[in-house]
Amino acid sequence: MRRCLALLFSLMPLMATPRNGTPEKWFPKPLSPRIANYVINGSLNWEQKVLDGTETITWRNAGTAPTKEFPLHLYLNAFKGPQSRFVKESGGKLRGDQMANPAEPSSWGYCRLLSVKVDGKVVGGTPGEDETVYWVNLPRAVAPGETIQVEIAWQSRFPKVFARSGYSGNFLMAGQWFPKVGVYQGASWNCHAYHAFTEFFSDFGTYDVTLAVPNSLLVATTGTPVETRGPDGQMYEAMEDPKNPKIHIWRIHAEDVHDFAFAVRPKLDWDCHVWEYREVEVKYYTQSKTSSNIYRQKRAVEAALRLSQEWYFKYPYPTLTVIDTPEGAEGADGMEYPTLITAGSVPFDPFEYREAPELVSVHEFGHQYFYGMLASNEFEEAWLDEGLNSWFTHKVMDTTYHGLLPSRRLHIPTDFGEWAGYWTGPSSDPLTVVSFKARDWSSYGRVAYAKPTMVLNQLEALLGRPLMEQVLRTYTEEMKFKHPTRGDFRRVAERVSGRDLTKFWQDFVEGTDVLDYAIHRVEAREVQQGGWMEGKDGVVFAAPQQISPGRTGRVTLARKGGITAPITLWVRLENREERRVTWDGQDRWATFDFDSPVAAAVLDPDGNHPMLKDRLHASWLPKPPSRGLHYWAQLAWGGFIGLLQSAGVA
Ligand SMILES: [Zn+2]
Repeated sequence: MRRCLALLFSLMPLMATPRNGTPEKWFPKPLSPRIANYVINGSLNWEQKVLDGTETITWRNAGTAPTKEFPLHLYLNAFKGPQSRFVKESGGKLRGDQMANPAEPSSWGYCRLLSVKVDGKVVGGTPGEDETVYWVNLPRAVAPGETIQVEIAWQSRFPKVFARSGYSGNFLMAGQWFPKVGVYQGASWNCHAYHAFTEFFSDFGTYDVTLAVPNSLLVATTGTPVETRGPDGQMYEAMEDPKNPKIHIWRIHAEDVHDFAFAVRPKLDWDCHVWEYREVEVKYYTQSKTSSNIYRQKRAVEAALRLSQEWYFKYPYPTLTVIDTPEGAEGADGMEYPTLITAGSVPFDPFEYREAPELVSVHEFGHQYFYGMLASNEFEEAWLDEGLNSWFTHKVMDTTYHGLLPSRRLHIPTDFGEWAGYWTGPSSDPLTVVSFKARDWSSYGRVAYAKPTMVLNQLEALLGRPLMEQVLRTYTEEMKFKHPTRGDFRRVAERVSGRDLTKFWQDFVEGTDVLDYAIHRVEAREVQQGGWMEGKDGVVFAAPQQISPGRTGRVTLARKGGITAPITLWVRLENREERRVTWDGQDRWATFDFDSPVAAAVLDPDGNHPMLKDRLHASWLPKPPSRGLHYWAQLAWGGFIGLLQSAGVA
């Protein structure tokens, strides 16, 4: 462990030196196509929370047709006023957080273009769907394969944070803070407005960013600080501005990423701890209130780093920054940027409920793969990032911690929330819905996170774990830095597994029907004989009485959902025999008879259908098992702590 010397010196000797390169050049060969490359100069007015910037975008037309347009995302205009799509769609709320008083100017922000130049000449353009996109008119068409440079001057004002970017107290999270070009695919641009539900999509490139900030501030960023030799001959990660000793200049470099974020906070309020793990320098930024959680964050991040490497491919970047978001800046928490994540923790946590920081740390780290390096279009197919990443998160949590609470008596699988979330409205949208057009916020959450997690569990049950691991490994390895679509995922899954996934795809990806089988009824019947019976001397009457086997059992299964699948029923009979029968599941119901009454029954005993609706109705006992006081006390306590934490009390 190393600790930044932020508290001791105003200038910090450099610490981040990548193993396999230098801070100025990470990789000997590009990992990505490097289509959109940025050189940015920003100067932060800390009092006003305003940043003045210039940037040069070096962009290559990687499409198939010439283009005369150059659309820029100006994301911070989402917070310019209530007329933005973001505010209209969100109502000024996001993920449980709410924007500050709209009557205050500090609640709003913007990204204002001051000038755009191509070939040294100022060019114009027109706003897009709203002011979060601006379509620059190029003076000439840029042919496929051709590269242009666009020079931009702009000003960004950060709002009080409620949605990812902005400030709270003395902490500023600068995300989506500079003009960013859209993605040109084939013969058209993909450059949507900033929507309330969905996140981002952009091309890979290099980033060389220079930030001028007051010298009282510590800066945490994407990328690695570029070493600068100080007057004493030592290397430093930030230098005094020769024109103004109160300003520090930070020069930062990143390669093969598609975004750049930074956070600033006074050095006196922020600690930075550095550990190297598997050739990655991991920096943790914490504050005194939650500093005791750092070892929990470290364990979670390292588990995610290790397992992603084992399951997918090696995390290639030399650096990772983990910010424990301070109290009040919850809107900036639980967010991912290339080589930088925000993963807050709670100050009072006697029961070590693992949602925060463990689950959040693992999840945000997992985005380094699905958002960061695979970089699917999150506007349109958010589940390829959030869903695959949620599935990864739960795998890491299961492997590392087994449940959400340390209790051994009360096992809550970490993906329980996804299962419950999915079943609150399983048919609201298919996975194929364009993500920002999902019915509402809750439906977006289901199709981006909950349902894909369940669908991947279902696919794993279908293929078996080793094959599923191979599918994911091949998909991530083959599609990294390529913006994969769901078609790519299916293609890889079919090729690797050798299975035709047409029905699976129709049922679970394109469809909205549900897999819902239940044990409808369990009956026991007496086997009797008697009444008027033919005898030697004609008919005689015998009172009905029990004959062998005495009593029999019958189970009626029902299909309540639209999806059909073969399903297995396991029963234990009163005569202690066990039986398994498989129903093709095509009709609405079917009955199965057994030569002894049923003592216990379980539908889908092998867990072949993780998407099955009601696992309570899928098992049956003559009467519910009795639970001791200890069980109920732990259940109540676990629920209570969960409530307190979700309310932000504990
Ligand atoms: Zn996420």
